[in-house]
Amino acid sequence: NQPDPGMALVKEKLSCVKYKILILSGKGGVGKSTMTSLISRTLAADNPDRNVAVLDIDICGPSQPRVLGVLGEQVHQSGSGWSPVYVEDNLSLMSIGFLLESPSDAVIWRGPKKNGMIKQFLTEVDWGNLDYLVLDTPPGTSDEHLSATSYLKDAGITRAVIITTPQEVALLDVRKEIDFCKKVGIPILGAIENMSVFVCPKCKNSAEIFPALTGGAKKMADDMDIEYFGSVPLDPLLARCCDDGKSPLIEMPDSPSVVAIKNIVARI
Ligand code: ADP
Repeated sequence: NQPDPGMALVKEKLSCVKYKILILSGKGGVGKSTMTSLISRTLAADNPDRNVAVLDIDICGPSQPRVLGVLGEQVHQSGSGWSPVYVEDNLSLMSIGFLLESPSDAVIWRGPKKNGMIKQFLTEVDWGNLDYLVLDTPPGTSDEHLSATSYLKDAGITRAVIITTPQEVALLDVRKEIDFCKKVGIPILGAIENMSVFVCPKCKNSAEIFPALTGGAKKMADDMDIEYFGSVPLDPLLARCCDDGKSPLIEMPDSPSVVAIKNIVARI
């Protein structure tokens, strides 16, 4: 087995990234991409001197261009690689979504092609100096995870944040995700429970959707010996704001969901 020359390149390219964070979920639809965008927006907004970038390696369902409000933008080839798209002065994004002809184009690729694209993302994007590189991954443990973790493991420490909902089906798959991190040697920063309670947009009161499941993610985190960062409520206004590509930090800064995110990011 010849060593992959890409490994050394990734290491060199990522040497100017201080912290790399993989956002993981066991299942799709639990809010992983939403949380990725909110965590990144919050990290960037908290400190204008901090440089944050998002790398969307959810190759079959890239949603960062939409939720970060840069759908339809183009990436440009520069002398030293691809220039990412800037969402804010200190927040940039690279996504396969920018390379598709139209947002509804399907990407049906086998493992080696996905691996090649992830390697290209990790070696050819001109991020500049970064404090945080936040990676949005597909759900589960797929080819993309194996490629990303094998490239990243030699390029300094990468840590994971796990997103789940309170339902047992989601928690079951999250346990597999945590097991995957342990096997590939990725330390877990902590777990976030998304869509825990429902916040009524009219009366602002919150209600438990599945009372029997309340506390499920915290219990799972305790059982698996990982940190529990807290929960983010199900908030229809948050969903609409993200769908429109607007920043919830600006549009609805005092909402329970944004306040919850800010408290969580303070612990990352
Ligand atoms: P994933 O990346 O896990 O597939 P998404 O982030 O795309 O999930 O979220 C799936 C859907 O749920 C989206 O329509 C999103 O706007 C919505 N959503 C995510 N988190 C919340 C939340 N806390 N409150 C309301 N809607 C949410």
